[in-house]
Amino acid sequence: MSESKKQSPVGIDLGTTFSVIAYVNENGRPESVPNAEGDLLTPSTVLFDEEEVIVGKEAAKAIASELDQVAECPKRQIGQRVYDKKIAGRRYPPEALQGWILRKLKQDAMRVVGDFDQAVITVPAYFDEVRRKATQDSGMIAGIEVQDIINEPTSAAIAYGFQNGWLDPKGVAVEKTRFLVYDLGGGTFDVSIMEADHCDFKTIATDGDYQLGGRDWDQRLIDHVANAFKDEHGFDPRENSDALGKLIRDCKEAKETLSARGRASVTCAFGSSTMRVDVTRDEFLRMTQDLLDRTDFTVRQTMKQANMKWTDIDRVLLVGGSTRMPAVQDLLQSLSGSSPDNSLSPDEAVAHGAAIRSAMLTEDYRETLPLNSIRNVNSHTLGVVANEVETGLPQVVQLIPRNTPIPVTSRRIFKTHKADQESILVQIVEGESTNPADCSQIGRCTIWDLPENLPVGTPIEVKFGYEENGRLRIKVKIGGEDRRSFRYELKRANGLTLEQLESWRQYISGAGS
Ligand code: ADP
Ligand code: MG
Repeated sequence: MSESKKQSPVGIDLGTTFSVIAYVNENGRPESVPNAEGDLLTPSTVLFDEEEVIVGKEAAKAIASELDQVAECPKRQIGQRVYDKKIAGRRYPPEALQGWILRKLKQDAMRVVGDFDQAVITVPAYFDEVRRKATQDSGMIAGIEVQDIINEPTSAAIAYGFQNGWLDPKGVAVEKTRFLVYDLGGGTFDVSIMEADHCDFKTIATDGDYQLGGRDWDQRLIDHVANAFKDEHGFDPRENSDALGKLIRDCKEAKETLSARGRASVTCAFGSSTMRVDVTRDEFLRMTQDLLDRTDFTVRQTMKQANMKWTDIDRVLLVGGSTRMPAVQDLLQSLSGSSPDNSLSPDEAVAHGAAIRSAMLTEDYRETLPLNSIRNVNSHTLGVVANEVETGLPQVVQLIPRNTPIPVTSRRIFKTHKADQESILVQIVEGESTNPADCSQIGRCTIWDLPENLPVGTPIEVKFGYEENGRLRIKVKIGGEDRRSFRYELKRANGLTLEQLESWRQYISGAGS
């Protein structure tokens, strides 16, 4: 009788610019899996080429020639209803674009690790509930059962700990270690301060800037070269999609060269004119200093929120390809007073941690990896909108302040504002302001069937339960004599319905179109 084969634990770093898939091998070590092209990093880029949909390197190459048919960095728009660029005349939800990426990762990895249908997927620590849910939906579209959604810095810390022996072979922290994770990727930036103590991994504070990444450094170089070209020849290469596509690619390459060499050059060709622009590392540093300063500011803010001094931090971990820029390492060295730890590949650490997390959640592997407690914090304050009694103006009542360890539950009592009220609207918002206009609305639910003849001032209890994976559940209890409670699933403004998810799943897997 053949025993059914064990599925390998799998973790996926679904990155803004590059994605990586890893598994835990027979020796209990995390290992990245090369894609069909033989690379460990798969560009998170999707090309719609006539009949075919192509993901990865070839799609990224097509940016230079078929920009209109390419969807880049869908992660930057996850949580929106549709990706804002029409591709070949069609609009796609970002979940579907990520679904194609995940599907390629899964299929390519299956050639190496065998069949699997479960995986852990990572997200930036500051992703809100809407984006976490949308990421989980992308997994479903790709035919992946998402075991857990974990934060990228937590994942990286697990991988570093595992590799460097602050976690013993059983996954237990040898001594209490505090670290700061600085993650600068292609399109996102985040900082987290964490603590590993015995089996407990907790995030003390986290902050981020999700519109900041290597692409912004590329853009400075693109503008620099294009302006030089325009000054010389009178026309702007950014106005032509082919010239721009080539410029984007060459400037990114030049930027990466500048991490290893003191100078680089970019050749810009447009019409019948060609021009070579040389850039030194110092010049590049000057044109991008404000971007680096933004990361500096976020690091200091996060340290402040965590109430920590640099002497409290044992290690600084570098994550994300952009931390290869010497200026980043210099910044962290001068802030912390010691060299940051770059002992792991900054592009693979997150996927490796996710694979280890997957092993922790997989029955057959749990024995060998009893690392069991990961505590996260919520990265945005959650509240509901209520009318203030004196002014009647809408105001946000905060239920769960940011950086609260999760899981957590919180409750607040509100009152009906008129007699015989028939319905209650519960608007859930995320943000740091008490003005609803400055917060983002993440969901709303209306309770229609209130008991009759409710007197004015009837207590209404709103209870939030924030789960460890960043998902939110809401319970509303109507007070008074006839106590009733209602449980809610959030109605999301931008989410896809189950039917839509299923139809995208079939469409992407080629089972229907
Ligand atoms: P993400 O997490 O956003 O998917 P990655 O961590 O893979 O991204 O980082 C991708 C970014 O890292 C890109 O902007 C790329 O240009 C940048 N990068 C990779 N290698 C280098 C390097 N040697 N010097 C500077 N930037 C680099
Ligand atoms: Mg990343």
